[in-house]
Amino acid sequence: MIDKYGRNINYVRISLTDKCNLRCVYCMPSDVDFEKNYVNDVLSLNDYKFIIKGMSELGITKVRFTGGEPLLYPNLEDLIRYTYKDCKIDDIGITTNGIGLHEIAYDLYQSGLKSVNISLDSLKEYRYKSITRCGDLKDVLKSVHKCLDLGIKVKINCVVINGFNDDELLDFILMTKFYPIDVRFIELMPLGEARKIYQKGYFNIGEMINGIDELYKIDSNEKSTAQYYKFDGSKGRVGVITPMSCSFCNKCNRIRVTANGSIKLCLHSNEEIDIKYYLNKPLIFRETMKEMILKKPEKHYLNENQCSDTSRKMYQIGG
Ligand code: SAM
Ligand code: SF4
Repeated sequence: MIDKYGRNINYVRISLTDKCNLRCVYCMPSDVDFEKNYVNDVLSLNDYKFIIKGMSELGITKVRFTGGEPLLYPNLEDLIRYTYKDCKIDDIGITTNGIGLHEIAYDLYQSGLKSVNISLDSLKEYRYKSITRCGDLKDVLKSVHKCLDLGIKVKINCVVINGFNDDELLDFILMTKFYPIDVRFIELMPLGEARKIYQKGYFNIGEMINGIDELYKIDSNEKSTAQYYKFDGSKGRVGVITPMSCSFCNKCNRIRVTANGSIKLCLHSNEEIDIKYYLNKPLIFRETMKEMILKKPEKHYLNENQCSDTSRKMYQIGG
């Protein structure tokens, strides 16, 4: 699908649930209760399949499943298999906190999973527990190793927070020396819960990276939101994602499907288009999608003041 600005839209991120088993302080309130009156996840497995099939016919070649926490979605394996086998989409990834992934990684890999982005903000157990409010670092590291063993491409997403984990960045960078992992540092965004810590928590990652002489910039052809760096002999890369000052819009090839049955044409916009009415009507879905794509904005105008509370679910920048 080609949009008004000549961009080929071939990448969709699909949120499978808004639920999560962690409560990262910059993402979820500590007291959110997903058991009570929870209505946001409205799409059925067949709805997801319909959307992916329809989009594959329109030229989507890359799918990333995300959330909330996508591993909580009971039909994840089925959906990955369907995407790979029935829709012939080869580039399939998930963005996950990695909790419990080691137990199902093999099955997901067999179904067609090619890459995982694992969120990990600290390599110290007590800090990991405090930022996630309940996560177990050992579990996540086990998942990282399992994926590497299976040959699944691993990227680690690390949100950098001043005074919290900025002293660990070299440890993260060292991981890329020994493992074929891309570690991507993400600038904290003042969305939802993160607004409470943004003033004190913002950390200028670019300045830090530029201060490390051994790291050199890589020119990459891939359509990535990250600027990548390497040092001699390293197996993986170091990436920097700065969504607030992102200059990626002119290359942007992605759209997003939310768990409540809407499409977001720009991950940084509040605008959602409800597509529930078009589900299971292949012709109308196809024509409507083509029209919608033409409305994809040229760029986002995100700044600290424009980030709204309702945008909590749409910041899948690290995905
Ligand atoms: N639960 C999965 C996970 O944590 O990877 C997928 C969803 S999570 C919302 C996707 C990514 O967004 C994670 O890497 C998370 O660290 C990042 N994220 C959440 N809130 C953020 C914020 N305020 N600023 C920057 N990144 C944020
Ligand atoms: Fe859950 Fe991911 Fe949000 Fe953490 S960042 S609370 S793991 S959805």
